[in-house]
Amino acid sequence: MTQFHQLSVHELVQGLKNQSFSSTELTEHFINRIDSLDGQINSFITKDFENALAQAKLADKQRADGDNRPLLGVPMAHKDNLCTKGVLTTAGSKMLYNFVSPYDATVVQNIANSGFVSLGKLNMDEFAMGSDNESSHFGAVHNPWDLGRVPGGSSGGSAAAVAAGFVPVATGSDTGGSIRQPASFCGITGIKPTYGRVSRYGMIAYASSLDQAGTFGKSALDCAYLLDPMSGYDNKDATSINRPSEDYVADILATATDGKPLAGKKIGVAKAYFGAGLDSEVEKSIRTALAKYEELGAEIVEVDITDPAVTLATYYLLAPAEASSNLSRYDGVRFGYRCENPKDLHDLYTRSRSEGFGAEVQRRIIMGTYALSAGYFDAYYTKAQKVRRLIVEDFKKAFEKCDIIASPTAPTVAYKLGESLDPASIYLGDVYTIGVNLAGLPALSHPVGMANGLPVGLQLIGKHWAESELLTTAHIYQANTKFHQDTPNLG
Ligand code: GLN
Repeated sequence: MTQFHQLSVHELVQGLKNQSFSSTELTEHFINRIDSLDGQINSFITKDFENALAQAKLADKQRADGDNRPLLGVPMAHKDNLCTKGVLTTAGSKMLYNFVSPYDATVVQNIANSGFVSLGKLNMDEFAMGSDNESSHFGAVHNPWDLGRVPGGSSGGSAAAVAAGFVPVATGSDTGGSIRQPASFCGITGIKPTYGRVSRYGMIAYASSLDQAGTFGKSALDCAYLLDPMSGYDNKDATSINRPSEDYVADILATATDGKPLAGKKIGVAKAYFGAGLDSEVEKSIRTALAKYEELGAEIVEVDITDPAVTLATYYLLAPAEASSNLSRYDGVRFGYRCENPKDLHDLYTRSRSEGFGAEVQRRIIMGTYALSAGYFDAYYTKAQKVRRLIVEDFKKAFEKCDIIASPTAPTVAYKLGESLDPASIYLGDVYTIGVNLAGLPALSHPVGMANGLPVGLQLIGKHWAESELLTTAHIYQANTKFHQDTPNLG
């Protein structure tokens, strides 16, 4: 018998509408599943089940009273760097171990207004810095496909929770790949929208010029159901762009998927994305997926993009620089962790920060502070900003030749937990995703098969504001393949 966690959001919406089941039944099912299985995964930092059940009951009552918001009563959960009023919001850090937000992030508010029921807050790398979810103060997350492996990061809890069937959809954030890479490692779909599409108000900042919230789901259509209410202008975020809102779900449902639905679409492939470091089994799955896209009518064309090594260096200067500035607010005085018995103010600042931040966060603060220091500012920070402009130009040129750029999402499949990789090797794993954030572009990752028994993701990069095109393209692929329906065997 099909169980609720095997249904798509589309099916949940229909079932709730037809009153085949209630939100309370759904919510109880997911709560039981989390209670019995999350001990192995550790995807939740905060289980907000009492609130969730109250919201579900209210949703059922509202529906009975004629409220016809389609998403009313559908369960979901949030990455723990999105502020949730009255609920612990830690960003995966000891620094915020006791921080209960006094307000909701705009996306949290928008999602609640659409009727979704939040089950709680999901594990993540500390302050969203990382690629394997091992830097969380609340412990590593285990990949549902192989409990001995990482789920990817930084939104590892979100990706693992969706893959494990703990929630149908979840929010994430992506500064350099933190939605796409864990989606790839966990065999699900994830989208990072264009910079400015989704409000950053109330999302705990890592690198403000790169951060963007987005969604995880089993399919492009499921991602669209959560992205629709999240998107839109917010006057509380100065980088939010005021454009007419779009209806991604409607666009997908209106898309023809038979025959050669992608005829006329040009997909760009760059040699630089297939260089040294790319696992040969991963490459095979990616090439097979590209052949499938061709079969569906797309034309594959060759494009040039910036040397990924240059992009990587640029990102790992700018992101830590912004982080060092953003994280200066955690001083042991205003909120969060404070050291015991400080001798004086200086001791209070230093020890609160040394004890409250983990090793990776401290490494980034040191790198960023160095890059911003008076003596090195021009040599590093200003130079990196100039290179960033060139990366944007290179993408623009590539998009003169194609509609979408395709690449592997990550060079490897999920690696083993505790496989003490040095930081530089971990940073190398971000090589295909970070350029997108530097250029503010939208991109998604969707599953395209397995390599050595573990999921592989294909990245589709779009022009600015091409979320709808990316989602409908991935939907066409998913309507003609079954990889997105594969789920790990957790019981
Ligand atoms: N892995 C990248 C980093 O550590 C990206 C993280 C992210 O997108 N939040 O910076």
